[in-house]
Amino acid sequence: MKVLSVASEIYPLVKTGGLADVTGALPGAVAPLGVETRTVVPGYPAIMAQVGKGKVLAKLPDVLGHSVKLLGAKVAGLDLIVVQVPGLFEREGGPYAGLDGIDFGDNWKRFAVLSKAAALIATGALKGYRPDVVHVHDWQAAMVPCYLAYGDAPPPPSVITVHNIAFQGQFAAHVFGELDLPATAWADGVEYYGGVGFLKAGLRAAQAITTVSPTYAREIRTGEFGMGLEGLINGRSDVVSGIVNGIDVDVWDPAKDARLVANFSARALKARGGNRKAVLKTFGLAPTKGPVIAIVSRLTWQKGMDLLAEAMDGIVAAGASLAVLGAGDRDLEHAFAEAAARHPGRVAVHIGYDEPLAHLMQGGCDAILIPSRFEPCGLTQLYGLRYGCVPIVARTGGLADTVIDANMAARAAGVGTGFHIGRLTAERIVDAVTLACEVYADTPEWTRMMKNGMATDVSWDASAKGYVALYRRLLEQAA
Ligand code: ADP
Repeated sequence: MKVLSVASEIYPLVKTGGLADVTGALPGAVAPLGVETRTVVPGYPAIMAQVGKGKVLAKLPDVLGHSVKLLGAKVAGLDLIVVQVPGLFEREGGPYAGLDGIDFGDNWKRFAVLSKAAALIATGALKGYRPDVVHVHDWQAAMVPCYLAYGDAPPPPSVITVHNIAFQGQFAAHVFGELDLPATAWADGVEYYGGVGFLKAGLRAAQAITTVSPTYAREIRTGEFGMGLEGLINGRSDVVSGIVNGIDVDVWDPAKDARLVANFSARALKARGGNRKAVLKTFGLAPTKGPVIAIVSRLTWQKGMDLLAEAMDGIVAAGASLAVLGAGDRDLEHAFAEAAARHPGRVAVHIGYDEPLAHLMQGGCDAILIPSRFEPCGLTQLYGLRYGCVPIVARTGGLADTVIDANMAARAAGVGTGFHIGRLTAERIVDAVTLACEVYADTPEWTRMMKNGMATDVSWDASAKGYVALYRRLLEQAA
């Protein structure tokens, strides 16, 4: 089966978030299941640097008024089709914003051109290539299903994956006239609150919608999580599903991870103590019989960090110590620094982004706290499971789907892998940490939880099967 994937980011070439991890990992994960993936990406400087001149596969003389070169390249095991339009993509800054951090004013055009070019590829622009299924990611590629619906050639079926419904690609109404779509497309799905909505258009036009966990797939049907798109998602609930992300189990392997002071495995857990000591030393925390809890997070409202700031005194009173690694809202950075000053030796904060330290914390802290208000999938709980760093998580999105709450029944059956925070408030966060402290004091039970987590399959294998099953369903329906 041939799948054409379309994305604005792909690991290891361009990454601002989890989207890149998925688009980078999925091609390799579905390949053993008989799926060949080619990925359409914009020719950003970071991609052009890897691709060089590439091989010109085709030229499209007029895509929304732009001359497009399609370059073929194999990079990092990925089969790329690069959409080269220097005027749109070869700029300083990130994929979406300039060096000043301000979004490019023509993002609608940049990603409409990407999407239109991908739709042309899907319907025969490359000699000898016809994908069976088109898989597009997030708002930047969401116009592909829409262009396919209004194209000249019979289109292959498409699926759109939503990595975070908060990002929707909303633009002014006047943009519509320049999208090269028939006037009927406006009322048919492109119009969104009086303007143009790229994600909305894709959600309307694609044959299937996925998001990155089953619980988030249900949550976005509600006003609390749907960010204005809940009505549409509800109306199409028969084609909406959730498939949780995996993690790269080679990069995140406690037995081989070079960022750890001591490597360990479920069978040789003692060595883990070396990492715990290193965490205490790095953060200047006092030796303790209580659990050392990690926070590795963007410091934002979405991540519930304001609630954590409120809960800190209670967490310390419960007997835990906190090592916080993160950056984000200034107010929260301040609040955490103040908590550290109130509780020297028990709370320590490292402001910044530090990948090696994140590894050490997963391999050395006893638990990781993730009190997110919403979490489409989440990665840090998956790393935690794999590293014996017991996750304490909000019961939302992918967190709810990947961590087995050690409630009474689960504890009796010995199957818990972490703790769920019930309704998300500062008090409940303290309650969950208090329970974790109790269980931590019972070494055999805590060890069992760590081992349960470490035995959990967090690889891409299960997700890959889910996507391939979906591709096959789409193919059958199309036939
Ligand atoms: P999101 O993409 O919403 O921020 P995820 O849990 O899906 O949340 O992914 C966050 C990723 O970023 C994880 O790989 C996590 O380890 C990493 N991360 C977040 N903050 C930091 C930090 N301050 N230093 C190092 N890594 C971080």
